[in-house]
Amino acid sequence: MERPRVGELAPPDRLLMGPGPSEVHPRVLQAMSTPLVGHLDPAFIDIMDDVQDLLRYTFRTDNQWTIPVSGTGSASMEAAIGNLTEPGDTVLVPGNGYFGERMAAMVERAGGDPVFVEAPWGEPLDPTDVADAFAEHQPDLFGFVHAETSTGAKQPQVSELTRIAHQHDALVIADTVTSLGGVELRVDEWGIDVAYAGPQKCLSCPPGASPLTLNDRAMAKILDRETPVRSWYLDLSLLQEYWGDERAYHHTAPITNVYALREALRLVAEEGIENRWQRHRRMAGALKAGVEGMGMALNPADDWWLPSLNAVRLPDGVDDDAVIAHLLGEYGIEVAGGLGDLSGEILRIGCMGHSARRGNVLTLIAALGDALEAQDAAVDVEAGLAATRETLRG
Ligand SMILES: *Cc1c(COP(=O)(O)O)cnc(C)c1O
Repeated sequence: MERPRVGELAPPDRLLMGPGPSEVHPRVLQAMSTPLVGHLDPAFIDIMDDVQDLLRYTFRTDNQWTIPVSGTGSASMEAAIGNLTEPGDTVLVPGNGYFGERMAAMVERAGGDPVFVEAPWGEPLDPTDVADAFAEHQPDLFGFVHAETSTGAKQPQVSELTRIAHQHDALVIADTVTSLGGVELRVDEWGIDVAYAGPQKCLSCPPGASPLTLNDRAMAKILDRETPVRSWYLDLSLLQEYWGDERAYHHTAPITNVYALREALRLVAEEGIENRWQRHRRMAGALKAGVEGMGMALNPADDWWLPSLNAVRLPDGVDDDAVIAHLLGEYGIEVAGGLGDLSGEILRIGCMGHSARRGNVLTLIAALGDALEAQDAAVDVEAGLAATRETLRG
C-alpha cells in the first residue's frame, strides 16, 4: 500500500449555530492542549473531584453519583437507560420528538418494553396524558426530553410530571442534553431521579465526556439488579469503583475531554448558572425577535419555546436545503433542517453556550435574511434586523 499523502489539518472557519456542537470557548481549547497525566494520578483524582463538584452545581443537585461518562451524549443516555432498565421493565417514553424514539430503541436493547405517551412533534407532553399512560401501563421508569433538539420544544411543568411518576413508584430519567447550562434546570427541586446531558450543546465543550447524575434511589435500583447490565463499558456498578471512593481502574478516562469539561464548567460557575440561563434567554430572544420581525414565526408556542434551539418555520415554497447551503457556503454559518414530522418545514438554529453572543445573533439574522431573499421569500430583512438590534439594546 502506498504511503498516503495527507495535507495539514485545515477545517474551514465556521460559526456553529446549529443543533450542536456549538462554539468552543478559547479557554476550553487551551485546556485541551494541557499535557496529560495518568487517569489514576493523584493530580487527576483532584481534577475528577473538581468536575464532579462543578457538575453538581450546574445540574443543581446534591447527588453523590454525578460523573462524566466517557463518550458523547448518547453514551450518558445509554448509561442511564441501560443501567436502570431491567429485562421485562416497562418504560414510558415520549412520542413528541426524535430523541424519545432513541430512548425507546435503547430500552429495547436493554430488554425492556417501551410504551409511548404521545404528543405532536413540536409540543410538550401534557401531564394529563402522562397520568393516563401511568394508569394504563404502570411503567417502572419514565423518560422525558427536557429540551427536544429535534423540535425546539421545551418540556414545562417538569415537577408535575415527576410527581405523577413518583405516585406510581417509578423513577424519572430526564434528557437534559440541550438544556444543561443553557436553560433553567433544577434536578433536585424538580424531583428528577436521573439526568443525562452532553458537553457540546450549551456547555460549549467538544464532545467526549458527558454529564450524568443519579440520586440514591436510582443507584439502589442499579445495585439491586438481578441480571448484570448488558454493557460492560457503561455498567455503573463497575464505574462507581472509579468515580466513587476507591478510584480503581475500570477504563482509561478520556483525560483531555475531562480537562475540557472542567474548564467549560468553570466558565459556567464564573458566569453564575442563573446569569447563564438569562443570557441564553436574552440572546435567543433577540434571534426570535429578528425572525418574527422578518415576518416568520417559531414553530413552538411561546410557553414552550426553547432558547437554546430555535425552530424557525420556513415561509411556503422555501427550500430548507438551499437556505442551509447558502448560509454555509456564503457565510460559513452552520444551521440545520427539521427532522421527522418537521422535515422540510423548519430550520433549527442553535443559540448555545459560547455561540449565544450578541455579534453571532446579529450576524445570523443578517445572513439568514440574505439567504431567504436569495430564495425569493417574502421576508422583511430590514425589519428583522431592526427588531434584533432593538432587543439587544434593551
Ligand atoms: C444531541 C442530543 C443527544 C445525543 O447526543 P450525542 O452527543 O449526539 O450523542 C441526545 N438527546 C438530545 C436531546 C440531544 O440534543
